[in-house]
Amino acid sequence: MAGSEVKAVSRRRFLGEVTRTACGVALLGLGVGLYARSAASLPAEAIRPPGALDEEKFLGACIRCGLCVRDCPFDTLRLAELGEQVANGSPYFIAREIPCEMCPDIPCVKACPTGALDHELTNIDDARMGLAVVVDQENCIAFQGLRCEVCFNICPVRGKAITLELRHNLRSGKHALFIPEVHADACTGCGKCEKACILEEAAIKVLPLHLARGKLGKHYRLGWEEKRQAGGSLVAPDREHQYNLPEGMRYDYEGRGLIIDEAAPASPYADDPLETLKRGQEGL
Ligand code: SF4
Ligand code: SF4
Ligand code: SF4
Repeated sequence: MAGSEVKAVSRRRFLGEVTRTACGVALLGLGVGLYARSAASLPAEAIRPPGALDEEKFLGACIRCGLCVRDCPFDTLRLAELGEQVANGSPYFIAREIPCEMCPDIPCVKACPTGALDHELTNIDDARMGLAVVVDQENCIAFQGLRCEVCFNICPVRGKAITLELRHNLRSGKHALFIPEVHADACTGCGKCEKACILEEAAIKVLPLHLARGKLGKHYRLGWEEKRQAGGSLVAPDREHQYNLPEGMRYDYEGRGLIIDEAAPASPYADDPLETLKRGQEGL
């Protein structure tokens, strides 16, 4: 082969190899990108162990050593395997399968060498692994007026994280409903209520906090909260709320709603529309 032909073949081979390498790197990059995206999203039913940092920080801090899993006495925790929708090697649990038993000494947190599970968590009642939510009132039998209370009775923070609210049974007209209500300020997200729910598919589920909780816009002001924090009304004088009701009517919650003080006219409107508009302005 002449010298110039050898050079041309080598150049072609070189260019081919560069292209193949570039494609390989691109595919690898795509794969890593897809993996990173799937790793960053956690399915709703996967709950992190107690004390886990926010998901992004947790993924950065957890070295996937499995020590928390090893030290969990109830086999609640497991390490995600390749192909699962949870970042490979990271610990999680599924409440409906094995919930967290809320060990008072929190061995999983103690075992964590990196602080991915926050060592400042020393009281398991302060854990916020997720939040229990009654997701299906139409199938929860307590809402149908049947006695259940299983989720209420199993809750380790019973009476604080979950309470039973008494409501009138409008269907029968003479029975009470015992409605489970979860309180975010005390629910640890342990998942025992979800595990215990007697339905084929639980009506109460533990969800990660970012899915379970709403967020009030910063521009909202809750007047009663502002008043409590300030130790008194910010508006002086603190007038009682006036309801704009038709003549002869007033609103009183303790009296259970609208009260008609005197015989009100059959219609709140006079025959003459102008007369209606002028009502209450007689003294002006
Ligand atoms: S608190 Fe106990 S049961 Fe819950 S995850 Fe940790 S070790 Fe397991
Ligand atoms: S002990 Fe900590 S670092 Fe190890 S797998 Fe569990 S959370 Fe991750
Ligand atoms: S997840 Fe359920 S059982 Fe656990 S603290 Fe919250 S309401 Fe109670």
